[in-house]
Amino acid sequence: MDSLQCLELANRLFPDITETPEDMEARYPARNLPEGAKVTRIAPSPTGFMHLGNLYGALVDERLAHQSGGVFYLRIEDTDAKRAVEGGVRMIIEAFRNFSLIPDEGATIDGEIGAYGPYYQRQRKEIYHVFAKSLVARGYAYPCFCTEEELESMRARQEAAKENFGYYGPYAVWRDRSFEEVMTKLDEGTPYVVRFRSPGDISHKIRHTDLVKGKLELTENDQDLVLLKSDGIPTYHFAHVIDDHLMGTTHVVRGEEWLPTLPMHLQMFQVLGFKPPKYLHTAQLMKIDPETGSKRKLSKRKDPELALSFYRQQGYPSASVLEYLMTMLNSNFEEWRAANPAAPFESFPFSTNKMSASGGLFDLEKLTDVSKNVISRMSAEQVYEEVASWAQEFDPDFAALLTRDPAYSKAILAIGRGGKKPRKDFARWEDVKPYMSFFFDELFCCDRTQMPALPEETICRILEDYQGIYDPADDNQVWFDKLKAMCGRYGLCADMKAYKKDPSAYAGSVADLSMVLRVAITGRAQSPDLAEVCRLLGRERVLKRLCR
Ligand code: GLU
Repeated sequence: MDSLQCLELANRLFPDITETPEDMEARYPARNLPEGAKVTRIAPSPTGFMHLGNLYGALVDERLAHQSGGVFYLRIEDTDAKRAVEGGVRMIIEAFRNFSLIPDEGATIDGEIGAYGPYYQRQRKEIYHVFAKSLVARGYAYPCFCTEEELESMRARQEAAKENFGYYGPYAVWRDRSFEEVMTKLDEGTPYVVRFRSPGDISHKIRHTDLVKGKLELTENDQDLVLLKSDGIPTYHFAHVIDDHLMGTTHVVRGEEWLPTLPMHLQMFQVLGFKPPKYLHTAQLMKIDPETGSKRKLSKRKDPELALSFYRQQGYPSASVLEYLMTMLNSNFEEWRAANPAAPFESFPFSTNKMSASGGLFDLEKLTDVSKNVISRMSAEQVYEEVASWAQEFDPDFAALLTRDPAYSKAILAIGRGGKKPRKDFARWEDVKPYMSFFFDELFCCDRTQMPALPEETICRILEDYQGIYDPADDNQVWFDKLKAMCGRYGLCADMKAYKKDPSAYAGSVADLSMVLRVAITGRAQSPDLAEVCRLLGRERVLKRLCR
């Protein structure tokens, strides 16, 4: 086809498109941002499943943009109607919001914000057509009328001949057809897709530096990939190139599954005359399989922890999940955290240089440890607010108890908080109820099996005697002195050192005595400081529990 025929074909394929690439450039001018400001995007598809990989990438996007005074935006990649689900967009927005990742621009629950929209790819059809038309006019794209069956039989032949799969070289059967032949097909109304005319050759190598994977040597693309499907909707490959260019994206963070098609994308940027963004292809999230003990990819089917909803349901604070992802993303984060225990993670200097090129190993136990630390640094007020809001959704009965007397609940949550060595009792909001349950009569139940090995009669006498001397005003010292003074009556040793020297000389020690009280009052063998617990429970409740 000569250049006039290409132009005529372009007009035939896109009769309603009157705008040009220059018009698009004028509509989406370069962003006016300070030097070094990065523009990043999250570009999920509304499939109804938000996973840890989405969050992992989004955190990198958010940090790169906000750390540099740039823009972090949300684009909805809804070109694949088969994968889109009802409510999928709301789910995306809410999932990111739950982790405090709020885009500056793009799709929101109440419409769009930003000057580079629409931010839904389906609403950008005309924009893609402007560029597709221009590519056809320049001889860089053409219609292909192959049917599914033809493509399948082509694939079978390639398989039999052990050749590369795809639409290229001799298999690119519509690439060099005559103008007349193409026009006849169009006149007949035959369905078609628009394909890219790749100028590449697989005997050539291209060099590319990925910000995570480092220097790469890749095979040039020779595939004539589909730009527009038969309904005129673009493929991801074409759409993201146009969007990332027009929306001024400087850094694309995406999963490494896109690496094989990167040469295709770079070729399109070149042919379209666009400067490509920097790419960060992040490693797959891996885990150690509990059954085989070997490393494998996190799987939707086998691993509930892949879904972001898992963390919400179990009540992992979003701050803990983010903190843990930071430890996975930057190898020096933990060292920084040790030196800056109270700083918000946003003040950590996040760097792409510290990102690992190989698989990030996700470990739920490690997250649990990180989370205990994160929660231990929160104020009682903050823990109260977060537990209450979690319980409202996932355990309404507990929420009702917790919020009945907020001051009481906060005082319980304040035990052992603050100070140099805060208690680390829970990792998830789900853990709070079992921890606090004995403070509520409705949940209190006494596990008598936890009582020390003393005769039942001794236990009863201890409880009875203590009722007579218990005074909520006692400080820890007075309280413990009272316990020591009681010991002799039951043949218990008040001095632990002496007891350890010759345990057989006594029926037990002051530790057993205090355990009797602890189990009676809290129902369990382990609890926070008993004197403090008693002060919070109040005289009446303590006496009642001693009577049982
Ligand atoms: N829509 C693509 C996906 O969900 C986005 C890839 C990208 O960020 O470019 O995988």
